[in-house]
Amino acid sequence: MQTSGLHQVLLPSQFSSLPASFFTNLQPTPLPSPYLVAVSDQAATEFQFSPEQFQEQEFIHVFSGNQHNSPPEPLAAVYSGHQFGVWAGQLGDGRAILLGDAIPKSGVRHEVQLKGAGPTPYSRSGDGRAVLRSSIREFLCSEAMHALGIPTSRALSIMGSDQYVMRETPETSAVVTRLSPSFIRFGSFEHWYYNNRPDELKTLADFVITHYFPQCQQEDNPYQALLTCITRRTAALIAQWQAVGFMHGVMNTDNMSILGLTLDYGPFGFMEAYDERHICNHTDQQGRYAYHMQPRIGHWNTHALAQAMLPLIGSIEETQQALDVYPTEFENRRQDLFRQKLGLRHTDPDNTALLDRLFELMQQNHADFTLTFRSLSHLRNETNHEDERLLDLFIDRESMHQWLITYRECLLLEKSQNEERQFQMKSINPKYILRNYLAQIAIQKAQQKDFSEIKKLNTILNHPYHEQPEHDQYAALPPDWAEHLEVSCSS
Ligand code: AMP
Ligand code: MG
Repeated sequence: MQTSGLHQVLLPSQFSSLPASFFTNLQPTPLPSPYLVAVSDQAATEFQFSPEQFQEQEFIHVFSGNQHNSPPEPLAAVYSGHQFGVWAGQLGDGRAILLGDAIPKSGVRHEVQLKGAGPTPYSRSGDGRAVLRSSIREFLCSEAMHALGIPTSRALSIMGSDQYVMRETPETSAVVTRLSPSFIRFGSFEHWYYNNRPDELKTLADFVITHYFPQCQQEDNPYQALLTCITRRTAALIAQWQAVGFMHGVMNTDNMSILGLTLDYGPFGFMEAYDERHICNHTDQQGRYAYHMQPRIGHWNTHALAQAMLPLIGSIEETQQALDVYPTEFENRRQDLFRQKLGLRHTDPDNTALLDRLFELMQQNHADFTLTFRSLSHLRNETNHEDERLLDLFIDRESMHQWLITYRECLLLEKSQNEERQFQMKSINPKYILRNYLAQIAIQKAQQKDFSEIKKLNTILNHPYHEQPEHDQYAALPPDWAEHLEVSCSS
């Protein structure tokens, strides 16, 4: 990669080949006196940049929105959506600007988007900016999710500025560079449906099929096939979220990726003390997006998408058929993931009962989700000192002890081998996740211009399944002060 003419590396976006009604061309609003806050070494390397290049003025300018781009012409896309179950009408990229496309080593073309790059025609009352706090959270979590093996948009860099923007209190702003094969959302389809624009609806569906689901072209009803694919991916994604205790926080249809990727990180959270009703978003007072609700809401969202695609698919029966793949796909994926998390080979009624009982005990004891499964990964067929690590997470040690007896009976029945099982379990039960308090420490340091903790966290979370004994404290239970941390929609 040459160090000059960086913007020339960007290809015109595929998205810009859509009709003009899909977007507005505009330049990012320059971020005053930008500086590098963080770069993801992994994302940079995959996109054939060297992390050092991000210290250069040219990179800082391009990835803070301070470079005039022409061509390709940057753009903001229009979409609509249901927010908290209610039709919200037109939304759109209110602060994200698509610079163009880039092709990483994998060969999969990605869109390069600047989030927080200034107002657009879709900003409504917003200022078009993102604060440093939420930018750090999005950066760290999207890269952490990728390392966990969960489909997600990526983050390349954060550029900061001393420019203040007003939230609950004044905060400094930043621009995150996000990467994704596409940022098209369920709400992009809803937009044309609710605006009674069948031509654009069809154009969008054909575009999505051509570029992302070409296999649907061969089907009798390509639009039904498309809905089936999206429904299946959504179900699989939410099963994967559940298996690491991830909660999105704002599963509105404008935040749901048509590629089944985790998108638009805001008030997300990872489950710590287990409570199936845990709500990670302080703004979500009804608990619509509580942990145990997320699978249902995923299905609800596919219904919202289906409503928009009904005119293309043609009949309610065919649309319903596509939606019906959700429960089976979700349950199969979920059972399979949790079976592996317990190190079991078979999904049979005994093993399912074992998992249900474990959840009951985790719920009653508020056991830490990540530590419970990671501790299980260290157990041996025979009782030894490793049992203590697990039992210590449960106040009711006796009930957990009983559970362990049943668990070992199941392992014995399967003739489970210690080393083989431990290896497999450690590769599915992460040791390191982005706990809220870890992000908070990195944010507080960054607000004092010390960006070292972001780098450190990004490096540790890049290997979530590795022991990394020198970083043990990053896998520990959260400190008491973390209990009072609240994450809201404010970003
Ligand atoms: P979110 O809930 O963060 O996904 O945002 C919902 C909608 O509000 C999207 O259309 C965003 O682009 C828009 N939005 C959120 N924050 C801002 C902001 N500070 N300025 C402009 N638009 C925003
Ligand atoms: Mg959004």
